[in-house]
Order: sequence, then C-alpha cells, then structure tokens
Amino acid sequence: MIGVRLMRLVLMGPPGAGKGTQGARLAQRYGIPRYSTGDILRAARREGTELGRAAQGYMDAGELVPDAVILGMMRGTLSSEEAAAGFLLDGFPRTVAQAEGLADVLDDLGLELDAVVDLDVPDEEIVRRLSARRVCTDCGRVAPSDTVEGASCPDCGGDLRQRSDDDPRTVRRRLEVYRDETAPVLDWYERADTRVVRVRGTGLVQDVHERLVEAIGA
Ligand SMILES: [Zn+2]
Repeated sequence: MIGVRLMRLVLMGPPGAGKGTQGARLAQRYGIPRYSTGDILRAARREGTELGRAAQGYMDAGELVPDAVILGMMRGTLSSEEAAAGFLLDGFPRTVAQAEGLADVLDDLGLELDAVVDLDVPDEEIVRRLSARRVCTDCGRVAPSDTVEGASCPDCGGDLRQRSDDDPRTVRRRLEVYRDETAPVLDWYERADTRVVRVRGTGLVQDVHERLVEAIGA
C-alpha cells in the first residue's frame, strides 16, 4: 500500500465527472474506505438499523430521505473502526445544509477533513459523456463508451440502452441543479478554512488520478 498518511477527503463533482472511477482509485491509493450516500443507505437498510428502517420508510413513500437521517447514518459510519484509518466521502455533502451537518458530526468525533476535492469537467464534455453512455436495462452495468444502443450486455445478455435522464436536455438540467446546489458548498468550505482543491477531470483516467494525488498531496 502506497498511502500511509491518514486521509479524510470529500470528493465532489457533477454527474459524469468520473467520481466513481477516481474515487475508487484514490481510496485504493490512500488505503481508505470510500462511502457514497447510496452505500451508507444500503448498509443501514441491510443491517436493519433504526435509521435504516426510517430511511426505508421515506423511500417506500417515494420521499427523499431527510438530511438528519443521512447524517445520523454518516455519524455511525465515520465513527466505525473501518473509518479510523481515514475515509473518502463520494458525492456528499451536496448542499450547504449537509456540509454544516457533516461539520457538526466531525466536530463531535474530533475529526477534520484534509481536503475537499472538486473534480471539474466542463458541461459540454459531461453532456457528451453521459449522452454516449449505455446502461444494461437488466443488471445496471454501464457499458464501454463506444457501445451502440440496443447492444447486448456482456454480463447478462440484457439490452444496453441510454437511460432517460442521460439524454442531453435532461443532463443539462441535472448540471444546472448540481451547480446551483454545489458551488455554494465549495464557497462554504473555503470560508470555513477547509482546503479546497480543484482538479481538471478531463483526459486519461490515469492522468486525472495523478493530477488528483498531486493536488491532494501525499
Ligand atoms: Zn446486464
């Protein structure tokens, strides 16, 4: 393992910026677990915790899981033995309210973030990436970038299709929502004297990874 320094990171970036790929690589590099809101929700539901059941209730009712419930689960996860070696939060917080809630949780646990990393990709590149993306309608696998509409999934034989929210118009709307919500989060962290690093997320996966490691510094 290369990373020996303890790292507590937040990775932000619009949908399609490559957070999943780069987040996994960073986690491996620094030897830390990576948590997305989805991971934490799934784990809490699987374990049947009180918060997990509460979250399930909201989801069954077709409602968003409130921040307080998510932050409660986050507190559990970040105080776990696994997270003692550091962690990378993938795509959380997304709003200033969540950033404030997370700061309270970290304060209580006596922890500080080392950096908030913003993976920056121009909107046009994201529209291009996401509208070219094909996803298996059966197993959810994301197909390689040159896959044509209706090809067969290499894993299960299902149909590879464009997701309805990956069409260019919807992507542009998702990006607008993301930028409206998230730009203030980065400002908030800067005002709170948390180190914010912005890294260009275009180019080869390996190059982006090297750029990230250099910017984070370890
Ligand atoms: Zn499939």
